[in-house]
Amino acid sequence: ILSKRLKAVASYVPKGARLADIGSDHAYLPVQLVKDGLIDFAIAGEVVKGPFENAQKEVDSESLHNNIYVRLANGLKAVEIEDQVDCVVVAGMGGILISDILDDGLEKLDDVKTLVLQPNNHEEVLRSWLELHNFIIVKEEILLEAGKFYEIIVAQPGQVNLTELDKNYGPHLRKEKSSVFKQKWEKELRTLDKILARLPEERQEKRAEVMAKQKEIQELLK
Ligand code: SAM
Repeated sequence: ILSKRLKAVASYVPKGARLADIGSDHAYLPVQLVKDGLIDFAIAGEVVKGPFENAQKEVDSESLHNNIYVRLANGLKAVEIEDQVDCVVVAGMGGILISDILDDGLEKLDDVKTLVLQPNNHEEVLRSWLELHNFIIVKEEILLEAGKFYEIIVAQPGQVNLTELDKNYGPHLRKEKSSVFKQKWEKELRTLDKILARLPEERQEKRAEVMAKQKEIQELLK
């Protein structure tokens, strides 16, 4: 059974997709999608031996080795052109690492129609990467699980310009302003308050920077 976070990620994988789940760990995501009859082909990529073996065990125990191919490889090197992958999931990693993985395997994304990304932080780096490499963010979701906020970014090929606010807060999230979104940024405001309280008066420049950020967030939450 998937966590709330992974269930949300799974919900954005199109029915019938040929999926590559990069950094799959236990391969829970592709296993669930195949068991639910939503997809019948997936690659579970892992760069670390332990998680790779976990994924193999999981796929074997569900007898899904004709549907899910577990590969030990760095990032998108797990994917071959012949696999005809049209959807890539990269979830549960930092936004910078996810951007690096996409960047290193750019040529593998030529025929990919859907990216489902779940960065644990630095969402703004990932959104900038998507804009620069001609992907449009078509959907975003923010959720709270076990006291942690998670963002999901779904992208498709296409061109769009993002503003700084779009990159920092999400082009869709910042317009939808869900209650979880508000909670996340209210929490950030409190964190910035604490930072400000510890910053000595002589650090004028840094204080101004923190206050500007607070003002931006307050505007956003209006
Ligand atoms: N995707 C799963 C999820 O969202 O629950 C697992 C997330 S787990 C925290 C991150 C996994 O990514 C680890 O198993 C790690 O070994 C793997 N990983 C990190 N960098 C990778 C890379 N460059 N290529 C493939 N896997 C990678």
